[in-house]
Amino acid sequence: MAEVITKEQMNEQCSFMAKIKEENNIFAITHGRERRACTKTYGCQQNENDTERIRGMLKECGFSFVDDEEEADLVIYNTCAVRENAEQKVFGRLGILKHIKEERHGDMTIAVCGCMVQQEHIAKQIKKVHNHVDLVFGTHALYRMPKLLYEAMHRKKAVFDIENSDGAIAEDIPTMHESKYQAWVSVMFGCNNFCSYCIVPYVRGRERSRKSEDIINEIKELVKGGCSEISLLGQNVNSYGKDLDEDIDFAKLLRLVNEVEGVERIRFMTSHPKDLSDALIDAMAECDKVCHQLHLPFQAGNDRVLREMNRHYTRDEYLEKIRRIKKKIPDIFLSSDVIVGFPTETNEDFEDTIKVIEEVEFDHIYSFIYSRREGTPAAKLDFVLTDEEIHKNFNRLLEVQNAISKRKNDAYVGTVQTVLVEGKSIKDENVLSGRCDSSKIVNFKGSPDLIGKYVKVKVTQAMTWSLNGELAE
Ligand code: SF4
Repeated sequence: MAEVITKEQMNEQCSFMAKIKEENNIFAITHGRERRACTKTYGCQQNENDTERIRGMLKECGFSFVDDEEEADLVIYNTCAVRENAEQKVFGRLGILKHIKEERHGDMTIAVCGCMVQQEHIAKQIKKVHNHVDLVFGTHALYRMPKLLYEAMHRKKAVFDIENSDGAIAEDIPTMHESKYQAWVSVMFGCNNFCSYCIVPYVRGRERSRKSEDIINEIKELVKGGCSEISLLGQNVNSYGKDLDEDIDFAKLLRLVNEVEGVERIRFMTSHPKDLSDALIDAMAECDKVCHQLHLPFQAGNDRVLREMNRHYTRDEYLEKIRRIKKKIPDIFLSSDVIVGFPTETNEDFEDTIKVIEEVEFDHIYSFIYSRREGTPAAKLDFVLTDEEIHKNFNRLLEVQNAISKRKNDAYVGTVQTVLVEGKSIKDENVLSGRCDSSKIVNFKGSPDLIGKYVKVKVTQAMTWSLNGELAE
């Protein structure tokens, strides 16, 4: 069982939130405005979920929120370590913040948190090069943010908390969800898989599951607040429950969530192919609220490369699971992650990846060029392909997948889809945007009153990444 943060430990954090709030109230009286916070998130859905908790705690501290760092009294960057370019972006932004802080004679608090700073060499680099940063805290210190922030706001020296740990579970952290109608709910944290290219197990600790009762209670609270679409989140949800005393696994958890009154749709991510069980496929097929959508990263189509990646399945085993899913759920929406240019990959190996894409016909693929991560086993492997060859292969993959995505979207034209309206389209504010059951984005004209509601939309046009339609009722 994972370490659970006690009520007393959480109460201590609550007392620091109250202290900051008191000071922020005085600030509001003397300055004629609230203290403003700006949060920026890099990386995956887990980070987005963590930022919702950071914002929840900041709200309790009495901060208001702005999007622009220049207007903020407090800036928090929640960072990602999965790819080098995400780290470079953060360092770039920190450089800009230095000037802003100087112009304001130091009257600004800057914090950096998340996976990137959980790596010791990065924390050291910030200490050495970016001494305008006031607070650095890693993934394991998230629940301690109120205390750390209080210290950072009162000390002349920067505060660092990147304590390494296998990870704990902290319940009851105040959370400010981005959307009123949809919410991500973490069911587990960390990862035990140690894929050879991946930094996640090093920065997020070992797999640890939340008790099903805590998950269900959180979902019931979300439903009370008007939320109807729940996405269950974990680095490897198929391992859910292995570390718990209760008789539970992810398939059983899905069935429990399916029973919660007021929940209309259930999604989840991410599944590791080696752990995808028949019980889960059955639960997906039998639970009426579980969307017919599965994100199942295969990463590479060549068995030798998969072994180098430490993925623990072969191409044929992966394809066999896909066949089983398609047989049980013929209208399944399939997506995957693929890495192009993994060290040792040859052009022939890459062709095996293309063959898998063509055979499965994914609806969507998140493709990435391999990014070397210090401290991972793959970082010691040599490249066979040149940068030019890797980019050529990457572009070819996009071409192949785009053609498949467009073809699959074409099949939606003329159908009527149930869409949860998420908001106005970013391109045209007269157009609403939402997702259908399979998670494809559907754009259509309609009144903003429909935001948050389920509507029927007739699909009239297929694009590569989305669908256009018109209200059917
Ligand atoms: S399953 Fe592999 S790729 Fe996914 S988080 Fe764990 S180590 Fe990383």
